[in-house]
Amino acid sequence: MKIICIGRNYSEHAKELNNEVPTEPVIFMKPKSALLFPEKPLYYPEFTDDLQYECELVVRISKNGKYIQEKFAPKYYNAISVGLDFTARDVQQRQKEKGLPWEIAKAFDLSAAVGQFIPIGPDMDVNNLNFHLKVNDQLVQKGNSSDMLFSINKIIAYVSIYFTLNIGDLIYTGTPAGVGSLNVYDKLEGYLEDQKLLQVEIR
Ligand code: MG
Repeated sequence: MKIICIGRNYSEHAKELNNEVPTEPVIFMKPKSALLFPEKPLYYPEFTDDLQYECELVVRISKNGKYIQEKFAPKYYNAISVGLDFTARDVQQRQKEKGLPWEIAKAFDLSAAVGQFIPIGPDMDVNNLNFHLKVNDQLVQKGNSSDMLFSINKIIAYVSIYFTLNIGDLIYTGTPAGVGSLNVYDKLEGYLEDQKLLQVEIR
C-alpha cells in the first residue's frame, strides 16, 4: 500500500506557512513504514526540534484504478477517518529553502497516524464533513471538507493520472489552519464530527 498526501489544500493553511495557494494539487507520498496505527505512541524523533501536527481527513481506496474520472471517483473509496501528517517543520523548512524533496521531514517512520475508519454510507456527504483535533484537551484545529481547494473526488482524479490507485492505499487530504508544535507527553485526539477516531501520545 502507499500513502498519498495532499499539501496546501486549505487556503488559510497555505497562508499561515507563507505558501502560495496552489492551482493544482500538491502531492507527496509516505511509505508504508510511516503508518502509525490507532492508540500507538509516537516517539519524538531525534532529528528535529520542531515536530508539528497536521490533522487531516483520510480516505481509504477500495478499488484499483488509473485515470479515474472525477464523476466516478466515489466508486473508488469507501471509508474515511482522521489522521495526522506529522511533520519535522524545521527540517522541511531547510529542504524547502534548498529546493530539495520533503521526505526526511514528512515521510519518516510513524509520521502518518491514522484513526479508526468509518464506512462511507449513502447518507454521508464527504464534501461537508467537520473534523477537529485536540491537544491536551484544547481544541487546536478544526476544518470542514467543504473548504478544501480540491475536493476528494478531484484529488482522486488528479492523483490517478500519475499513480495507479490500489485497494488499501490511503489519501491524506490536507490540513486546515492551526498547525503547531508538539512536546513530549502531549496527547492528541482526532475527531470526525463528534466521534473520536484517533488518539496519539508523544513520548
Ligand atoms: Mg499535511
